[in-house]
Amino acid sequence: MATNSHLQRGGQRRMATMFLLAAAIGGGALAGRTALPAQTSTAASTPQTSSTTQSLSYGWPVKPFDRQHPIRGSFGDPRSIFRGAPTIRGLMTSRCACSYHQGIDISAPDGTAVYPVRSGVVRIVTPDWVEVDSDGGSAFQYWHIASRVREGDRVQAEGTVLGHILRGSQHVHLTELQNGKPVNPLAPGHIGPYADSTTPRVTAITFRSSDTGPELLPEFLHGRVEMIASASDTPAIPVPEMWSGLPVTPAKLTYRVTTFPSAQVVTRETVAMDVTHRLPSTSDLWHTYARGTHMNMVKMGTHRYWYQPGAYLLKLTPDLFDTRQLKDGVYRLTATAWDTAGNHSSSAQIINVHNRKNWLDG
Ligand SMILES: [Zn+2]
Repeated sequence: MATNSHLQRGGQRRMATMFLLAAAIGGGALAGRTALPAQTSTAASTPQTSSTTQSLSYGWPVKPFDRQHPIRGSFGDPRSIFRGAPTIRGLMTSRCACSYHQGIDISAPDGTAVYPVRSGVVRIVTPDWVEVDSDGGSAFQYWHIASRVREGDRVQAEGTVLGHILRGSQHVHLTELQNGKPVNPLAPGHIGPYADSTTPRVTAITFRSSDTGPELLPEFLHGRVEMIASASDTPAIPVPEMWSGLPVTPAKLTYRVTTFPSAQVVTRETVAMDVTHRLPSTSDLWHTYARGTHMNMVKMGTHRYWYQPGAYLLKLTPDLFDTRQLKDGVYRLTATAWDTAGNHSSSAQIINVHNRKNWLDG
């Protein structure tokens, strides 16, 4: 399907796409415990532009250039094609061609003309994507278009038609590269106008004894555990047609641990994942996302599962968290999801840590 093709094809050309193998053991329950809503706050979506970022600002690659368009795929979303059967076991343990989404998916009808967001020289032309190296060191890729330009052509921002959106794609994927590395086009000072007043949510905080399960009760955590926040965001503008209502990933997730009920800080606010500006390396994917994570309309085996929403399970720590760092007792674990505009909200889960000897065998 077109949505994934740029990952595989792009990998051949420029970006390393890694096929990550997951250990094939166990199988975790996916049922999430609903976290308690915690203090919810929403920041104003005023772009925090600085003199450096302002110079990077550019318009939209489809008309109208000066108006915001719906985005159905965020920077850093998981892109996942599982080799296994469409079962929980397949999802949790099968081999996956998985990576971070390296750009944004701008929703537009098939056949829509796509224009460069910045002037420059066409460097790469393939049957379904084009790269323009712009003046000033950045480059942009436009995917899922039938090209109308040739390598070496000089193209004008908002003037030259690069190509038209291919049939069935219903979007143009935009990758922004700085020094060859993808950066987040939704960060303040990049694509604009872009306003976002939807708030990302943490819907559950869960625990496992390993990346593939089993799930643990928050009432009884001991030894090393995986801590997971299920989080998602809503596109800033509703996406039409079949991608309507599907979630995207938050740009950032943070967490903190306090004693309960005394509220003394044990672990101060810590960044678990942050794609506000840049991506982690692809090899870190399964240190950022827990197994069970998958993209919207996931592919498993040879099928794509239409209309199914994605699941974004974010690890609070890249590796298992050792609860023996904490004294036995009761704690409140708070996870906060953020978008690039600073909108954020939190959920919390009470946990009980029991590591003293002669407690129940785990
Ligand atoms: Zn895309």
